[in-house]
Amino acid sequence: MTETHSTQTLHIVGAGLAGSEAAWQAAQAGVPVTLHEMRPERGTFAHRTGLCAEMVCSNSFRSDDDEKNAVGLLHWEMRAASGLIMEMADRHRLPAGGALAVDREAFAEAVTERLRAHPRIRFVPGEITDLPRDGQWIIATGPLTSDALGQAIAAATGRASLAFFDAIAPIVHADTIDMDIAWRQSRYDKGDTEDEQKAYINCPMTRDDYEAFIDALLAAEKTEFHDGETAGYFDGCLPIEVMAERGRDTLRFGPMKPVGLTNPHCPEQKPYAVVQLRRDNALGTLYNIVGFQTKMKYGAQLEVFRMIPGLREAAFARLGGIHRNTFLNSPTLLDDRMRLKSHPHLRFAGQITGVEGYVESAAMGLLAGRMAAAALQGRDLPPPGPETATGALVHHITGGAEARSFQPMNVNFGLFPPIEARGGRRGRATRYPAYTARAKEAFGQWLLDAQG
Ligand SMILES: Cc1cc2nc3c(=O)[nH]c(=O)nc-3n(C[C@H](O)[C@H](O)[C@H](O)COP(=O)(O)OP(=O)(O)OC[C@H]3O[C@@H](n4cnc5c(N)ncnc54)[C@H](O)[C@@H]3O)c2cc1C
Repeated sequence: MTETHSTQTLHIVGAGLAGSEAAWQAAQAGVPVTLHEMRPERGTFAHRTGLCAEMVCSNSFRSDDDEKNAVGLLHWEMRAASGLIMEMADRHRLPAGGALAVDREAFAEAVTERLRAHPRIRFVPGEITDLPRDGQWIIATGPLTSDALGQAIAAATGRASLAFFDAIAPIVHADTIDMDIAWRQSRYDKGDTEDEQKAYINCPMTRDDYEAFIDALLAAEKTEFHDGETAGYFDGCLPIEVMAERGRDTLRFGPMKPVGLTNPHCPEQKPYAVVQLRRDNALGTLYNIVGFQTKMKYGAQLEVFRMIPGLREAAFARLGGIHRNTFLNSPTLLDDRMRLKSHPHLRFAGQITGVEGYVESAAMGLLAGRMAAAALQGRDLPPPGPETATGALVHHITGGAEARSFQPMNVNFGLFPPIEARGGRRGRATRYPAYTARAKEAFGQWLLDAQG
């Protein structure tokens, strides 16, 4: 990035994975940065230290395969953009097969040291409780944004546009649903266009399928909420297994009701229950299972959901969950420069924008830091194209995702514009390297263009 010194300060709230990377990128670009962090004076139920970029749970940055894996590609892009988080993760890497696991304490200490030693970064301890009226700011306060700031953001965006819990239903790659079993139809064929009338994918169940599914659901291993995590949790997003516990037929009269639907593969037979999947992105490559938010462990989810006829070979872009998680309805609130449309001096970055995961959060910090620095230097920096991992994520959260059902998202190839090959779609083995090769070229070009 070109170093053009700016006299105007960029303020960043939150020195987590996103805020730390944003501060580094902006400072390296020549912009003075003030980093506001409330820990250790004020903690959260998950953080244990006052260090920057604390990894609150697992110590893994997941797959490091930049040829066949979307998160590995995101690693590659962040390394190419001289990201601090990746540099320190590489330096404190632990053996973990193909995954990038890190020594979390040494990693966080190293990030903190680097930021504190930077001549253009100033630390200001303390909680920010209100949204600033002027200046240039990046809000990167994460899934556990303090209550006071959360309320201030809700007041600025509208209460319905800021969630305090996620309720994530599993998301399936559309091309792995068996359409010889499933079919496209909205209940009662509702909608004015054919697209609307066929908006859902339906998976039919016989009585035996349903009973076996409920048994598996009740027996599956579940995760518990952390202490202090449930404050403010409400009954409107009950896990599917809790609904099943309330009565064996609750789901059949709830999200799995078989009414208003006719199975074209077997029109004379009325399904006993139906699992519906709803389109999750504009590309139509991802579908979420309607009403299936869950606290089942990931392994159990795979076993239970693959019992659903039509999903036996399903590949999941992400599995379900329910967590304390403050995040914006970014598809309606943010522009593609990650600015709040109603208050463009405020950018958002990290998990609060509706991405999910350490790496994704840091990547959004990298982008916001570069964009804010460019703006302070009088330049406009557009995001990288959607064929890159960073670009696919930012395009998803700021426009590609369905705003109505928006829930936090991991990076995955379902977010990328599909690559078609002559003679039909390529198999995964050749398609994924084609995605990553295309992404690397486009990201390299974006970095060159970003130099101005
Ligand atoms: C319990 C839990 C477990 C998770 N486990 C994983 C996991 O295993 N793997 C994974 O990839 N992701 C996990 N995540 C999701 C997510 O990727 C991480 O939370 C990640 O740290 C998000 O990065 P961030 O920078 O957006 O937020 P954070 O890293 O949380 O950083 C936000 C920072 O803002 C500070 N802050 C908050 N409010 C204020 C304020 N008002 N004023 C000043 N500072 C403030 C916080 O103290 C914090 O340092 C988990 C999340 C939670 C809550």
